[in-house]
Amino acid sequence: MAIAYDHLKADLALCTGTRKAGQQCNGTVHVCGQCGARGCKQNRPGLCSEQAFDVLDQCLKCGAHAMQPAG
Ligand SMILES: [Zn+2]
Ligand SMILES: [Zn+2]
Repeated sequence: MAIAYDHLKADLALCTGTRKAGQQCNGTVHVCGQCGARGCKQNRPGLCSEQAFDVLDQCLKCGAHAMQPAG
């Protein structure tokens, strides 16, 4: 019996933002433990419309290093 990958994937919070190139991000969503901002983490700022963290796990909203898994 095959593992239901689709179901497992649906349980993860995926970023619904749009990347610069126009495609949906689908990155893993994280939450800031300081200000509650939700969004994905990208290598550089401004890569995704819903980006909330930079490559150093720093929150782009409040500047805290309090990145936590979403959900
Ligand atoms: Zn924050
Ligand atoms: Zn994203």
